[in-house]
Amino acid sequence: MKWYKKDQHFLIDEQVLGRIIEYSHLNSSDTVLEIGAGFGNLTEKLARRAGKVIAIEVDPELASSLNRFENVEVIVGDAMKQDFPHFNKVISNLPYSISSPVTFKLLDYKFDMGILMYQHEFAKRMVAAANSKDYGRLSIAVQYRANVEIIEVVPRLAFSTPPQVNSAIVRLVTRPPPYEVKDVDFFMKFITAAFSQRRKKIRNAILNNAAFLGIPGEALEKLPLDIIGRRAETISPEELAKLSDILFEEKI
Ligand code: SAM
Repeated sequence: MKWYKKDQHFLIDEQVLGRIIEYSHLNSSDTVLEIGAGFGNLTEKLARRAGKVIAIEVDPELASSLNRFENVEVIVGDAMKQDFPHFNKVISNLPYSISSPVTFKLLDYKFDMGILMYQHEFAKRMVAAANSKDYGRLSIAVQYRANVEIIEVVPRLAFSTPPQVNSAIVRLVTRPPPYEVKDVDFFMKFITAAFSQRRKKIRNAILNNAAFLGIPGEALEKLPLDIIGRRAETISPEELAKLSDILFEEKI
C-alpha cells in the first residue's frame, strides 16, 4: 500500500461539510488552500463560494478527479515538498500523519484564517493552556503565532473509512506574537528541551539538555529560582520566554 493511502479518511457527513463552509465565511475574493483534497467532496463546496481554490493532493488517481472544477488549481504532490502559492485562507481535512509539520509550515506563511480538521487529541494539545496535561511545545509554538480554538468535535463515523479516534475542527487566526523573544529559533529549541522531561523540574530538563541548547551548565545560575523549581507544564509561555531570553545570552 502507498504511504498516503493510510491517511485517506474521507469526510462524508454533509452536515459537517456544510458547517466547515459556514465557519470559513467565503467570498469571491478568497483564495483557498486545501491540503489533501481527496476526491473533492470539500473542494467542490469551497470552489462554489471562493474566487479560487488551490488543491494539493498526493494521490495521482484522486488528484485527476479534481480537474472537474473550473476555479480549482490542482497540485499533484506531497504538501510537505511544495511551496504554497499565495492564499488567504486554508481550509482542509488534513492528512493526520503530517499534522504537526504541515501546521508549522503553514504558520510560516501570511494568511488570514485556517479552518482545519485534526485528530481531537492533537487539537487539544494545540489549544491547551499552562497547568493542563495537554500543554506543551505544540501549544506554545502554535499560540505564539495564532489564536487557536476548537470549534467542533467530529465523531469518527463522519468519515469513510472511519479513523481510530474522533476529530476536531480548529479555527486558526494568525496575529503578531503576544510576547517578544530575543531569538525565535532558540525559543523553539528551548521549549523542546523544557518539555523533554515533563515529570522533572525544569531545572533538570534544562541541565540535561545543556549541550543541545549550546549553553554551559553554569548558565542556570542566572535563571530565577522561583521559576526553575517548577515543572514545565506549570510555567506560562511568557515565563518560558523569559528563561529562554536569559539562556540565549549565555550561549557559547
Ligand atoms: N479532503 C478530503 C475529504 O475531506 O474527504 C480527503 C481528506 S483525507 C483525511 C487526506 C487526503 O490527503 C487524502 O486524500 C490523502 O491522499 C492526502 N494526502 C496524504 N498525505 C498527503 C501529503 N503529504 N500531501 C498531500 N496530500 C496528502
